Amino acid sequence: MADFPPLAFTRFPLDRADRLRGNADALTALRTREDAVVLAFWRHKPFLMKHGGGLAPARLRGDMLDPSASAVEVFLGLEGEAGVFAAELDPAREPGESFPLHGLGEFEDLRLSAGGLDADDAALLATARGLFAWHARHGFCSNCGAATALAQAGWRRTCPACEVEHFPRVDPVVIMLIVHEHPEHGERVLLGRGEGWPERGYSCLAGFVEPGETLGDAARREAREEAGVILGEVSYLLSQPWPFPSSLMFGVEARAGGDAIELDPNELADARWVTKAEMADVMAERHPDIRKPYAAAIATRLMSIWLARGD
Ligand SMILES: [Zn+2]
Repeated sequence: MADFPPLAFTRFPLDRADRLRGNADALTALRTREDAVVLAFWRHKPFLMKHGGGLAPARLRGDMLDPSASAVEVFLGLEGEAGVFAAELDPAREPGESFPLHGLGEFEDLRLSAGGLDADDAALLATARGLFAWHARHGFCSNCGAATALAQAGWRRTCPACEVEHFPRVDPVVIMLIVHEHPEHGERVLLGRGEGWPERGYSCLAGFVEPGETLGDAARREAREEAGVILGEVSYLLSQPWPFPSSLMFGVEARAGGDAIELDPNELADARWVTKAEMADVMAERHPDIRKPYAAAIATRLMSIWLARGD
């Protein structure tokens, strides 16, 4: 396989130090040390500053943000000896001038800004974003309805009424590099587009894994349901956290038994087979009908892996 840079959001750079999550004294000590780092978020958007030709999250000192002023604060892990935390500011109030770095950067959408971030920073921010999105949606117990409380430095919520523990949610998704060998056109890959997608937007077919399914089962079901394409054996390629809000993308590859497409119009607006020459045009942003997909997405990586292979 050709060498590629780390996929966005995949190279978490810290020691997660989960042994410290339940140790309030140790966490307080880390949080009040001079070397403590806090990454600030507002409405799940990290505060980013211009850095070199790209972007970097602002690393606030611990004393610049009062933990009690944040809606949620989580412990991400250790960077050497230093504790790294992330704080979600009160979503109901514009941070404005009360924010210590006001005017020096912006709270920016992580999905849109990922391309400008260093891989380590992107992975850190993705982890925090995934946690904040989960906290925001899990204030009440799914077992009994009572209000839940943050626990384990942000990695759990507990219900004081029924004592159930809730863990941060991760939803598995299969995303498929579906390949067909055509006697005349050679190898081609199946791309599809959903209703309402941006003009010329196409991607690999994807879908959530359902209870009782393996990744292979889910891939075969989705390909058959969405495009009427029958897959053989499914093999795993690579994965990517996708915290918008809580997906874990499993990139898989499978051979299609045939190239006939039967669209389910409720699932897809179009699907088409793409040759290597066409894919090269897509990646060079000169294909008339298909735009280059979003750079940080695993779909783009799957297409690049296929394109980089010799025939
Ligand atoms: Zn409960």
